[in-house]
Formats: sequence, structure tokens, C-alpha cells
Amino acid sequence: MASMIHVVFPVGPLQCNCSVIGDERTREALVIDPGDDIERVLAILEQHQLSVKQIVITHGHIDHIGGAMRLKAATGAPILMNEGDLEQIALLEVQAAWIGVAPPGPVTIDALLKDAGSVNAGGLRASVLHTPGHTAGSSCLYFPEEKKLIAGDTLFAGSIGRTDLPGGSFTKIIDSLHGRVLALPDETIVIPGHGPATTIGEERATNPFLQRK
Ligand SMILES: [Zn+2]
Repeated sequence: MASMIHVVFPVGPLQCNCSVIGDERTREALVIDPGDDIERVLAILEQHQLSVKQIVITHGHIDHIGGAMRLKAATGAPILMNEGDLEQIALLEVQAAWIGVAPPGPVTIDALLKDAGSVNAGGLRASVLHTPGHTAGSSCLYFPEEKKLIAGDTLFAGSIGRTDLPGGSFTKIIDSLHGRVLALPDETIVIPGHGPATTIGEERATNPFLQRK
């Protein structure tokens, strides 16, 4: 199997976890959720001699997508996102005002992330899980070979994504978590959209939102 370079680092004022994932052999890469700090993303790509093939957005909130157009301008890589969040990126100026940052300008999505589809970098492959709830278009990326889940704001260590923003649904996020996310093996490493990594087993056992009464 292809060996994976994976650098996770927080970007922007809300400290969104951005992932740079590269195939050590082909040097092809995915960047997931380049919310901000694009100079740092580019420095990491340079340091590992990686070339970005796809920019993948777990959901259309500004802290996850705010730097995507700058990264596309610098690398030429297309931006992928689920179509359910096109309405979110139409509201990026409103989102920017909520958190007090400069609006990033218009964002163009080049290809749609579809449930059960996949994204690739060299020999690395992730399947796309559409996991609505935090937003209508929220998606997780699962790397089966590496047993790793990039969870966006669907699942956090000890918590789950908020559902009180436009497009959010508590019923849907709980369905997504039980139906899709907890279907993954316990040893799966979870990289949430914010905060520390965890595992599916740990969250299944202890996350207060996932305990069935
Ligand atoms: Zn979010």
C-alpha cells in the first residue's frame, strides 16, 4: 500500500484542522479544509515536495473553506465539496461578519463530492461519506487502508458538531453518526474539524452524544 504523509495543523482564528495528505511515492497530495494560513499550507507542501491534486472541503463554513480560492490560485488544483453546502458558500460574507474576519470573496466549486464517491492522491484513496447534520452538505473522508477518518465538524473528541446554525439538523447529525460514522471499525483514527484526534472506539464508548438510552 502507498505510504501516507499526513500533516494536520490548525489554521485561522477558529483553529480549523487542515490536513495535507500526500503519497510518499508519487508526491501527489490532497489538502482538506484550507480555511486560512495558506502560506503555511504552501510551506508544508514545499517541505514535503508535494503537488496538490484536489482541494477537498468537508463543509461550507468559512473556517474550513476561507483559504480555498487562494490555494487554488497558487496550485491550480480543483475545489470539491458536496452540493448541499452551495447555499453556505453563498453566505460567506454573512459568516465572515459572524466571526469578525474579512470575507474571502466568491468561491467556485469545481466538482461535487458525492456520497460513496472517492478522492485520490496517487495511490491513496478515501471514500466520501455524506454525513448531513452540522450542515446539509457535511462530508467525512474515510481512508480504509490507513483506517483514518477526516470528520469535519460532524464528530469531535467528546462532542459532536453544533446544529443550531442555518442548514443544521440535530436529527440528521445523530442519524449520520449512528448510520455512517459508527459503522466504521473501532480502531479508526478520527481527525475532527477542531481539537484533538480520537478513535471511533473511544467515541463509541464515551461520547455523551452517542450513547443510546
Ligand atoms: Zn462548521
